[in-house]
Amino acid sequence: MSFLEYAPAPESKAVLNLKDSYGLFIDGEFVDGSGSSFTTISPADETRIAEIASASDEDVDRAVAAARRAYDKTWSKMSGRDRGKYLFRIARLVQERARELAVAESLDNGKPIKESRDVDVPLVASWFFYYAGWADKLDYAGLGANPRALGVAGQIIPWNFPLLMLAWKLAPALAAGNTVVLKPAETTPLTALIFAEILQQADLPAGVVNIVTGAGDTGATLVRHPDVDKVAFTGSTGVGRDIARAVAGTEKKLTLELGGKAANIVFDDAPVDQAIEGIVNGIFFNQGHVCCAGSRLLVQESIHDEVIDRLKNRLSTLRLGDPLDKNTDIGAINSAAQLARIRELSDIGEAEGAERWTADCAIPDKGFWFAPTIFTGVEASHRIARDEVFGPVLSVLTFRTPAEAIAKANNTPYGLSAGIWSDKGSRILAVADRLRAGVVWANTFNRFDPSSPFGGYKESGYGREGGRQGLTAYLKGAAA
Ligand code: NAD
Repeated sequence: MSFLEYAPAPESKAVLNLKDSYGLFIDGEFVDGSGSSFTTISPADETRIAEIASASDEDVDRAVAAARRAYDKTWSKMSGRDRGKYLFRIARLVQERARELAVAESLDNGKPIKESRDVDVPLVASWFFYYAGWADKLDYAGLGANPRALGVAGQIIPWNFPLLMLAWKLAPALAAGNTVVLKPAETTPLTALIFAEILQQADLPAGVVNIVTGAGDTGATLVRHPDVDKVAFTGSTGVGRDIARAVAGTEKKLTLELGGKAANIVFDDAPVDQAIEGIVNGIFFNQGHVCCAGSRLLVQESIHDEVIDRLKNRLSTLRLGDPLDKNTDIGAINSAAQLARIRELSDIGEAEGAERWTADCAIPDKGFWFAPTIFTGVEASHRIARDEVFGPVLSVLTFRTPAEAIAKANNTPYGLSAGIWSDKGSRILAVADRLRAGVVWANTFNRFDPSSPFGGYKESGYGREGGRQGLTAYLKGAAA
């Protein structure tokens, strides 16, 4: 029972103008797919949202052909200044339709509306604004003497930030002068299809962006298509490995943004109130469906009990439920399959001897839900300390010295992100320097900005997205 009771405050779905079924977006038009269609549902109550076309090999071929034509005839001939104008227009249309996009995202993905409204959609707009500004400056950015686009990019994105990952992929590719075939994840295609309407509104030349919906086999076809010059993938490490194998030995350029198991390190001199909020944001934001989530809390032994008590108190106040309710903190798990994986790994955590604590919150009857959970007494060898759970599950380990914290933080096959909580700037800098992670946050967590490069080491993938560095992945001969 939470301390404060709130009246329901659901965001209205009236702002949506959804179709009953969606086709593929190829050459500027919605067209029928020739694969068998599938249904996208709301993970919060399992109700049907819309029927979605599935792209067959022939459809992917049509989409790549449209992207190639658009590249040869229009986009590669256009000045950077004009490309930038389209990107600015898209960014403004995203802002105009922000409310609708936020509601659609929360409906299809299950994330709380306050996150889609205040984080995802504003960041989508900022990504397009940011890269719009780069489009006419490529020659002056230290990206080589004569930076040129690669051609057609095949881009595959996951379900955890459907529209934001689309923006991370499309904005730099288009700014650099490439055309694109993008495949959204099969459980969250909705906002990409609304975004296709935005591209029509923006009068983007036909074929510059094509969106093919479907499952993994559609993605695999896109990756292997001989006329794709560049593959950009965000998703699981297993699929990333398959893609690396498929692309090996070809001329295709590849960037991979894969999984993570980030350490969030709390030293005994940390501002504890802020750290508690940072731990919560680090692992319970977006139900923990975050590649860079702070899923391993490394807390200095002397403050372990205090931190855990305060964390449990804080988690007891979080509100789990309807993603469209403006007071909701924890939304639905994106799919039955993901819920099963979270349950399985949590059960393994308990069987391996870690102590499980779950926030006491009412779970709705329908839909996919998992209450915020903490494991204490976790050892580095436990599966919950090593495998990416990709859910609202925190594994807590302890350390005594900075050296031990660094060794434990780096003891992972991944290397995407990390967090440090300390009062001492010198300690933060010294520790950050020794962490093998693409992003290190200090006294904050899960902060994103289009000007800041993002990406991993080791099994978290290679290449960087965001910032000037994010352009290099889409240009011939450019070095970061
Ligand atoms: P996933 O790998 O199962 O799917 C990602 C996308 O790849 C989907 O669109 C899927 O249809 C497609 N796909 C599946 N099999 C494919 C194949 N053989 N060839 C080509 N495409 C294929 O991952 P997911 O479960 O959707 O997403 C969760 C994973 O994504 C987590 O591991 C998470 O850490 C990672 N992720 C990483 C980042 C990052 O920036 N590093 C960001 C978000 C998510």
